[in-house]
Amino acid sequence: MTTLQNCLALDAQDPLRALRNLFVIPEGVIYLDGNSLGVMPKTVPQRIAQAVSEEWAEGLIRSWNAAGWYEMPQRLGDKIAPLVGARDGEVVATDTTSINLYKVLSAAITIAQSRDKSARVIVSERGNFPTDLYIAQALCRERGCELRLVDDGVVAPALGPDVAVLMLTHVNYRTGAMLDMGAITRAAHAAGILTVWDLCHSAGAVPVDLHAADADFAIGCGYKYLNGGPGAPAFVWVHPRHRDKFEQPLAGWWSHAAPFEFTHEYRPAPGIAQYLCGTQPVLSMTALECGLDAFTAAESHGGMAAIRAKSLALTDLFIALVEERCAGHGLSVVTPRDHALRGSQVCLARGDGPYAIVQALIARGVIGDFRAPDILRFGFTPLYTSFEDVWHAAEHLQQVLESGEWRKDEFNRRNAVT
Ligand SMILES: *Cc1c(COP(=O)(O)O)cnc(C)c1O
Repeated sequence: MTTLQNCLALDAQDPLRALRNLFVIPEGVIYLDGNSLGVMPKTVPQRIAQAVSEEWAEGLIRSWNAAGWYEMPQRLGDKIAPLVGARDGEVVATDTTSINLYKVLSAAITIAQSRDKSARVIVSERGNFPTDLYIAQALCRERGCELRLVDDGVVAPALGPDVAVLMLTHVNYRTGAMLDMGAITRAAHAAGILTVWDLCHSAGAVPVDLHAADADFAIGCGYKYLNGGPGAPAFVWVHPRHRDKFEQPLAGWWSHAAPFEFTHEYRPAPGIAQYLCGTQPVLSMTALECGLDAFTAAESHGGMAAIRAKSLALTDLFIALVEERCAGHGLSVVTPRDHALRGSQVCLARGDGPYAIVQALIARGVIGDFRAPDILRFGFTPLYTSFEDVWHAAEHLQQVLESGEWRKDEFNRRNAVT
């Protein structure tokens, strides 16, 4: 049996343990939902106050130059790049994941069709995040393409000659299953197909190497593992081999080579800047930069290698504790046990009452979430989750199941956001 003492010993040896102190973790809360909205870095209130009362109130329009507002998409992009195996100047922080997906998917279709006019299919998994599928459906209507969905994990047979683009999410939001980006990209390229990777549940959580995988396009989220705050800007990466053919459809003035010439003729900016669209949310960017700076701090504590090792240790521990303590309560582990196939979350399925069990846990201060129809989802964020947290989370889960308290009415009423 695993004991609380074992967990405390793991915390004492954890090379990342000092980083928890960079974040606000509310008293009495065990936060296992950093894969949905990351916690707040402690530097945020002071940086936002400065951006508001000095840069905006006093600096006013001068701050676009003097406070470095104008370069924020690139500056933040360069801080995201090492987390995803991209190089300096290859990533911009901008817009939302959904919007960035629209840009890169459209560009990918155009490039694929410039090679082969008959390529008109986007392949994705049925279990992909809905916004990805909705954006693809909308684009298919616009471009006369077809979205072909396959069961999760079995894309290979669908990669036929009519396929233009393979659009996948690296770590599945509902199951925590992780795909082999390198092998799948190789198979797609062998069939003449471009790849678009969604890194929402990967960036900052698992090592990603876009260049090693030879991916074509990638997008990802700022408010999950990157701790950028609610609605934080997302990011976009395009392999340099595709980048200077201007193909993204949202050709706003920030994507222009010289926005302040105010010319009526469009000329795309060189490089990834052409994937910007319009004026960016400076205050949200300011908060996101605080989140990214925590990853810079993590570099002297072992960086992504330490983050990955701890993520696997935390998720292994949670699976072991759930199996030791909650056996006989009808939970099954959905997340792959094989480390090579696991992201940074553990999902448990239960036919009866999964939503209410999550609500009962939240009432006890253990915050995970429910994903329809039957998943209890727990995200483990190595920068601030401790092994002791995992111990207490499993203990609360056992108590909620044994007491049956989740059956109370108050836990069975659905909120708008789950
Ligand atoms: C969270 C998430 C999104 C969110 O997209 P937004 O445009 O930021 O709302 C998209 N795709 C995946 C896979 C996600 O996990």
